[in-house]
Amino acid sequence: MLYENEALGISTIIAENRQKRPNKVKGESMCPFCKQNESAIEQVVMETFTSDEDHIRIVNNKYPVCHKRGDLYGIHDVVIETLYHDKKPHSFSKSHWYDLIKLIQLRWLEISQDERIQFIQVFKNEGEKAGASIMHSHWQIIALEETPLTMKRHYESVGEQYEKEGCWLCKQQDSSWLDIIKTSKWRLTVPEGARAPYESWIVPNIHFANLGQITDDALKELALLLSDTLKLYERMLPEVSYNICVMSGKPKGDQSYHFYISLLPRTGNFAGFELATGCYINILSPKGLVDKMKELVEEIK
Ligand SMILES: [Zn+2]
Ligand SMILES: [Zn+2]
Repeated sequence: MLYENEALGISTIIAENRQKRPNKVKGESMCPFCKQNESAIEQVVMETFTSDEDHIRIVNNKYPVCHKRGDLYGIHDVVIETLYHDKKPHSFSKSHWYDLIKLIQLRWLEISQDERIQFIQVFKNEGEKAGASIMHSHWQIIALEETPLTMKRHYESVGEQYEKEGCWLCKQQDSSWLDIIKTSKWRLTVPEGARAPYESWIVPNIHFANLGQITDDALKELALLLSDTLKLYERMLPEVSYNICVMSGKPKGDQSYHFYISLLPRTGNFAGFELATGCYINILSPKGLVDKMKELVEEIK
């Protein structure tokens, strides 16, 4: 069930069935994402065999927050990134990264064909502090008939800005003082208002409004940059928990949104002030992070 407080602009999904999901971080033995336990999986909806002899599967979440037959219409998938229980994204080959994001894009495009779906969120929780309940590396895709109110306002304000002055992210392309790595189609950068000490963004130089619009050559370059970025983080903050949020325009939305990916290592918790106000306190200046990460770039090559 989706509860919306229109006055405050806050949405909540009530999903009691999520209480039943296993918590492998806390030491239960059987991992449902390991291949030998495939019977624990409801249905494989898409899969690919990678060129580095691995296997990526997109499956139905067994404990979904939404369902095509439930009271909250939607789709909740899990992307199991690898066959190997302990293999982590910072050690994925560049071709594995490409196979992974290509498969996620294909699934995004497929879901966007569903006439009722208005909003799709792709994200990754890595490590317990980032909210992962299973250690085996995976992403999630949640697609909903209703756009959460915070995102509805986010899209509206981006659209208003676009009408008035053009795209805010296209305009930032040349102000490169917070860029860490630049490729021909992407940049790894730190947002001026980073919410936490190590947040960075991966932003395309081309105005792709959503995940489905990214061209294949841009996806190939994105795979290289994601690989380098995760290596950088592993060097800087070994075994840190982190979230990756794929910030995409709506599947049936206008062209005003500019796609980007936010990477958010969880070195601390968001606390009372952040929860009360939606205003974040960051103890590391964006420029401080850029300097730190630039020093490490040569080491990961
Ligand atoms: Zn496993
Ligand atoms: Zn743009």
